[in-house]
Amino acid sequence: MAPHKVALVGLGKIAHDQHIPAIAGNPDFELAAVVSRNATLEGVDCFTSLEAMLEARPDIDVVSHCQPPQPRFAMAATTIAAGRHTLLEKPPGATVAEVETLKGLAADKGVVLMTTWHSRHAAAVEPARQWLAGKRIARIEIAWREDVRRWHPGQAWIWEPGGLGVFDPVSNGLSILTAILPDPVHVTGAVLDFPENCQTPIAGRVQFTDAHGTPISGDFDWLQTGPQSWDITVWTDGGQLALSSGGAKMAVDGEIRVEAGDAEYPGIYEKAAGLLADGQSDVDAAPLQLIADAFLLGERRIVARFED
Ligand code: NAP
Repeated sequence: MAPHKVALVGLGKIAHDQHIPAIAGNPDFELAAVVSRNATLEGVDCFTSLEAMLEARPDIDVVSHCQPPQPRFAMAATTIAAGRHTLLEKPPGATVAEVETLKGLAADKGVVLMTTWHSRHAAAVEPARQWLAGKRIARIEIAWREDVRRWHPGQAWIWEPGGLGVFDPVSNGLSILTAILPDPVHVTGAVLDFPENCQTPIAGRVQFTDAHGTPISGDFDWLQTGPQSWDITVWTDGGQLALSSGGAKMAVDGEIRVEAGDAEYPGIYEKAAGLLADGQSDVDAAPLQLIADAFLLGERRIVARFED
């Protein structure tokens, strides 16, 4: 079968670092165009507006949205209305309701919609889900602490309303948490630290639980220099599970069971190929719902200014 022709919308860090190489490495896809207000890419058609691309290239059947979450809904709705299959970078929208609306629009139009949640494709996530199945969980800790200056240099949108602040990377941890646990979780309380010059938090402590009352605590910080922490630890009646390196590594009672390199974005496009072949959508807003609820319940503290 001929490969799906893909357009990337938003030609920033994640498009360059991950989407372009992942598409190049998958024979089911061919990068055919990019949409960016400012940037171009050699070897493919470049457009400054989504509408112009959709009109000029009816042969492009998949559009991968890699812009920040704030403008995502309107652009994804335009893509769906044009009858193209649609992939959404994480977080899949600026609000939970947006994602639900897109789900309905895609179903009505008969196109595939995928919330990609890249961290769910890390090598140890599915083994962790399988290991936890059937075990009694006593407690869980999530530590997502990284250096914003290293990973998001100069990105103004993350500090603006809808940008999520530290919860942009934390959504990766929550996408793993919600994938590996057998039961849904919900937020019970939060303390969020907002720099005095920013609209989004730079740190937070969040408590979650589930229907069994399991204590789950999250410690999130965007000012951690040195080694970075992307860890989920689960204490169970069958031992202690440690997922680290953002889901690439899994140990049980200190013994390493899985350790692999970064295969997240190849995993996204592999899954997308399957969804397209089956005509199935995969839409999940659960991690974004937890963030929205932390913002609903969270106590707010004003902390020192953040200068990039
Ligand atoms: P970025 O480097 O700032 O790039 C975003 C691109 O989107 C820009 O190049 C911009 O291109 C375009 N854009 C369209 N409308 C925009 C608007 N209203 N404001 C700002 N830019 C707009 O961001 P990124 O790091 O690639 O992140 C994009 C998405 O990927 C986010 O949802 C993020 O959470 C996700 N993500 C990022 C990373 C990472 O490590 N950075 C990892 C995983 C996922 P033009 O100005 O040329 O149109």
